[in-house]
Amino acid sequence: MKNYHTHTKRCHHAIDNEEDYIQAAIASGYTELGFSDHSPWMYQSSFHPTMRMEAHEISDYVSTLLKLKEKYKNQISIKIGLECEYFEKYMDGLKEMLKTYPIDYIILGNHYDGSDEDGIYFGFPLKSWQLTQYVNSCIQAMETGLYSYVAHPDLANYPTDDPFYAEEMQRLCLKAKQYDIPLEFNLLGYRTHRHYPCDDFFKIAKDVGNRVIIGTDAHEADALLDMQTYQQAKNHLKDLGFDITEDIRFLR
Ligand SMILES: [Zn+2]
Ligand SMILES: [Zn+2]
Repeated sequence: MKNYHTHTKRCHHAIDNEEDYIQAAIASGYTELGFSDHSPWMYQSSFHPTMRMEAHEISDYVSTLLKLKEKYKNQISIKIGLECEYFEKYMDGLKEMLKTYPIDYIILGNHYDGSDEDGIYFGFPLKSWQLTQYVNSCIQAMETGLYSYVAHPDLANYPTDDPFYAEEMQRLCLKAKQYDIPLEFNLLGYRTHRHYPCDDFFKIAKDVGNRVIIGTDAHEADALLDMQTYQQAKNHLKDLGFDITEDIRFLR
């Protein structure tokens, strides 16, 4: 069992220490745990986001995880990742960071349009052109070849019974299929009854033939001990016709 969606305190909305997450994962029988805290971005403005680490914290993030990776190497494999948006104007900064630090993978968490300095949050009710913008940016992100999977691909908040939703989300799914990029069934949303994960979305993914991965999106160590939710999600996906994948591509 593997999980690649785990946060740390640096995003200001998670608790527990990295080691607590690792010990919880070991107790639950995970063989691989990937950390993917919200990535910093090199903003041109003086903007200070409240939901991600600051740029100067990346070095401590990586060195802390490298130490724990070594300490626990006989019990569990630790991967160092980030959950990143696709901010077109800041992608050079992200690529630079991926060269500077031993980041194993990044996942696409397409939360904001363009940048969180002024872009809308895609989880709020969207107009049709904003749904299109969500899908277009997901597609551009996938085309970079950098992202290992799409986290909560169904974050876009739009009436799922509108045929336009199916039309747009099908474009997203087709691109993921073309690039063989798994789509995440998000356990945090599932457990807390958010508008995602969304059956209507996964029915489209089923028709397209996408691979689906479960992501815990752990913001506390206990989330990795909650095997009941994990099993429910697995059964739910089975009912929708999916055998889950745990196979992602790494950057290194
Ligand atoms: Zn996210
Ligand atoms: Zn997350």
